[in-house]
Amino acid sequence: MGKKPKIAIIGAGASGCFAALQIHDELQGLCEIQIFEKSKEPLSKLRISGGGRCNVTHNLFDPELLSERYPRGNKELRWAFESFQPKDTILWFEKRGVKLKAEADGRMFPTTDSSDTIIQCFLNELKSKKIPIHFEQGLVGIYSNQGADQTPNFRVLWEGGLEESFDLVILATGSNRKVWSILEKLGHTIVNPVPSLFTLTLENTDLIELTGLVVPYSEIKVLPKGKPQKGPVLITHWGLSGPSALRLSAWEARTLFEADYKVDLSVNWIGGKSTQSIEEDYLSKKEKTPAEKLSPDPEWKLPSRFWDWILKESKIPSNKRYSDISKAEIRVLSLSLTQTKLRMVAKGVFKEEFVTAGGVSRKDIQFQTMESKHCPGLYFTGEVIDVDGITGGFNFQNAWTTATIAARGIRKTIVT
Ligand SMILES: Cc1cc2nc3c(=O)[nH]c(=O)nc-3n(C[C@H](O)[C@H](O)[C@H](O)COP(=O)(O)OP(=O)(O)OC[C@H]3O[C@@H](n4cnc5c(N)ncnc54)[C@H](O)[C@@H]3O)c2cc1C
Repeated sequence: MGKKPKIAIIGAGASGCFAALQIHDELQGLCEIQIFEKSKEPLSKLRISGGGRCNVTHNLFDPELLSERYPRGNKELRWAFESFQPKDTILWFEKRGVKLKAEADGRMFPTTDSSDTIIQCFLNELKSKKIPIHFEQGLVGIYSNQGADQTPNFRVLWEGGLEESFDLVILATGSNRKVWSILEKLGHTIVNPVPSLFTLTLENTDLIELTGLVVPYSEIKVLPKGKPQKGPVLITHWGLSGPSALRLSAWEARTLFEADYKVDLSVNWIGGKSTQSIEEDYLSKKEKTPAEKLSPDPEWKLPSRFWDWILKESKIPSNKRYSDISKAEIRVLSLSLTQTKLRMVAKGVFKEEFVTAGGVSRKDIQFQTMESKHCPGLYFTGEVIDVDGITGGFNFQNAWTTATIAARGIRKTIVT
């Protein structure tokens, strides 16, 4: 490229701001970077993220294991994480004076527990690098306009009718239907967007009397053939939340959407142990320790009120001894522990994080550079792409990683 290339980043969200800073670092003044934001504020989702604390990333450093946290995009991110992963995120913030801390479950937050720390870091960096954010400048059209010198060139149309030309454009607009329809016109396939990361609202069940209890080793699946999702489950006054329920909402986002969120669920409350093995264990206890009181295995870590509920579900009075329970009762108890059937009737809210599954098809993007396969010079970062992670900081990590790869891709285009 002969002249100093003009780069437009559309969207002042997480991936747009990060991309601007990474391009600046890669190119050190060799290009002109501007950010355009349709609203009056930058980073508004980041501000409310993680309940206002901003779960920036996750302390999982193996690219293979990390990529498994993405129901959509895991194959592509497996390699992308070789370029920029949570270790790099931690270092990037540390170099700019922002320390991150990991919680017991691996989620990482700023030590201040405030998303404002991350926002101020970005805004200070953008200011010191003289990268402007133009507010209330919403994109309404992009036209590919191959330049006379064969470099990619775009005409960008803003709300209000103004038009501007850029050499390279980054789409960092998150989940936005209007932008997706603009991209469709440029030849991209948009994978139908559906919600991900929500809680599971259940049909009337007395389980909700246990609101607030956590069962640590649950496995929940959609019947008949869904993949079980493991982890602690939180019983709420409308149904199920907590890691395993949220994981299910992400992995089964499309199945649940297509079923209008009305499905049968099966819950194993004891770490996926089989009905048969539990039945055999209890039958053996009945034979070997008949005088002992019927009780759960301490390793299951079932709260006592939950155990009482399981007994009630199994129609077994509490305080029974092994000698007092029949083989049929043991069978019912084993089924309650390993295959409780619950009816999901609606999608509930999860206030801490929300993401959209779907967006620009991954097949339309070169993941080595994040460049469009249809429009050279057009790049994608973050949630605009059909990539999403489970809860825990993985969605922001996708934003940081794809923004960095796009920045490096742009350097290759400009420097060669
Ligand atoms: C309540 C909530 C909490 C969350 N908490 C977490 C969390 O703790 N950890 C985590 O990893 N993820 C979290 N997420 C998900 C995370 O926020 C997103 O995955 C991430 O922000 C995506 O970054 P992005 O840059 O792709 O999009 P966004 O951050 O959504 O930014 C897109 C920007 O583009 C702008 N824009 C849209 N259309 C146009 C247009 N036509 N012209 C110009 N600008 C436009 C938007 O106004 C917005 O500012 C949370 C999401 C929500 C909703």
